[in-house]
Amino acid sequence: MKNKINIREQLFLQRENKELFEMAKSYAYTYMGKINDRPVFPSVKSIQQLSVFDEPLPEKPGNPDEILNLLHKYGSPSTVAQTGGRYYGFVNGNSIPIALATKWLSDIWDQNCALYVMSPIVSRLEAICEKWLKELFKLPSGTVAGLVSATSTATMCGIAAGRNEILRRQDWDINLKGLFGAPPIRIVIGEQAHATVIKALSLLGFGEEQIERVPVDSQGRMDADKLPLLDEKTIVILQAGNVKSGSFDPFVKIGNQANNAGSWIHIDGAFGLWAAASSEKKFLTKGIEKADSWSVDAHKTLNAPYDCGIILCKNREALTMAMQVNGSYIHYSEKRDGMHFTPEMSRRARAIELWATLKYLGRSGIEEIVDGLCDRAQQFQEQLSSAGFNILNEVVFNQIIVSCNTAEETNETLKNIQESGECWCGGSKWNGEPVIRISVCSWATTAKDIDRSVAAFIKAREKYHINLEA
Ligand SMILES: *Cc1c(COP(=O)(O)O)cnc(C)c1O
Repeated sequence: MKNKINIREQLFLQRENKELFEMAKSYAYTYMGKINDRPVFPSVKSIQQLSVFDEPLPEKPGNPDEILNLLHKYGSPSTVAQTGGRYYGFVNGNSIPIALATKWLSDIWDQNCALYVMSPIVSRLEAICEKWLKELFKLPSGTVAGLVSATSTATMCGIAAGRNEILRRQDWDINLKGLFGAPPIRIVIGEQAHATVIKALSLLGFGEEQIERVPVDSQGRMDADKLPLLDEKTIVILQAGNVKSGSFDPFVKIGNQANNAGSWIHIDGAFGLWAAASSEKKFLTKGIEKADSWSVDAHKTLNAPYDCGIILCKNREALTMAMQVNGSYIHYSEKRDGMHFTPEMSRRARAIELWATLKYLGRSGIEEIVDGLCDRAQQFQEQLSSAGFNILNEVVFNQIIVSCNTAEETNETLKNIQESGECWCGGSKWNGEPVIRISVCSWATTAKDIDRSVAAFIKAREKYHINLEA
């Protein structure tokens, strides 16, 4: 074959002369420097230009400079400016600089953290993160942690641990006998459980019709007085941070009932569990220690980079037996093998950024991050309310639900906000009506960003009225 380049030779050259990496660094700095001066959501034009990526699979190796430049030129304008100060969509966090810097370094290391022998450093950092998180959330001392991609997976791990443990207590070894034909397990969740909880349940063999749904109050909190009678064959799934209102389930009341009945409690604390780290907000998480497992994201409230979810489980055996690969009993050593605590075997080393985030911020820094998000959310709701918008929830944490006076006015105002590029919020439904949902989840959001965003809300509503008259 003529014209065939020696690819290995090229790769050695690219690694040695480092120009590619310098170029990536320079593009990254350009992006970072302009993050607050660009539209928060990509323009129609930049999205149209994504068609440059539509091409057949290349027949031959390409030009690395061109590949990088393609991303810089056409990719970066079509990112959402999540790392700026005015992105309030879903519950998407930013990343703090030292975490990002350590992530760059660890990308060069490219460690696999399934086993200690694959990376002693990552094994050690995972163990340290486990210890620190347990202290921060004030969880029982035997609690173990697994680092997974996100809360979706973490929730699945927690429920799997609970399912298997409930069956084990009835002498049913699920690893041996499987789920089909096993004694029944009851699932109790709140009416406003997050969609990922339903997904996890379905992956684990529980259908919609098997789920007992507990009515919620005006804030989406489970009503403890309407809980069905619990027993030792029940998994109760609670929520620390309702994805719309930010509300927290009554952990003490439900926790006591579930503990007395011998039920397994899992708490979905994707963004809300971090309230435990704030003196002002920790009242919201009172009673979380009554649970058996907890899922939480470091990439939301804590502002560690994506992707970093955590499963915490009080009973090490319950989690590791549910996550085991070989069906045999696990031998633990001083040296942590990360894969015993996660569904994956090969995994990237997210412990590095998590460790760096926790080490840099420390207790007081984490508290300041959490309180800062909550303060900005308070400012946002006060200014919106003064401007005549309706605030539909009690703003206890970082989430705000907003509406205008009619469904149409809300929908059109939201559309105008999104198109303005000034800030970005998502839409949702609350009590059957369309609403604008705000999540203040970036450390970079300043009081000025809130002023500017409120101005964008007002302008977007005015635009709707002007269009009506036109
Ligand atoms: C974000 C969120 C999830 C899902 O977390 P991922 O990180 O997207 O997997 C689950 N529950 C709640 C309450 C959330 O806010």
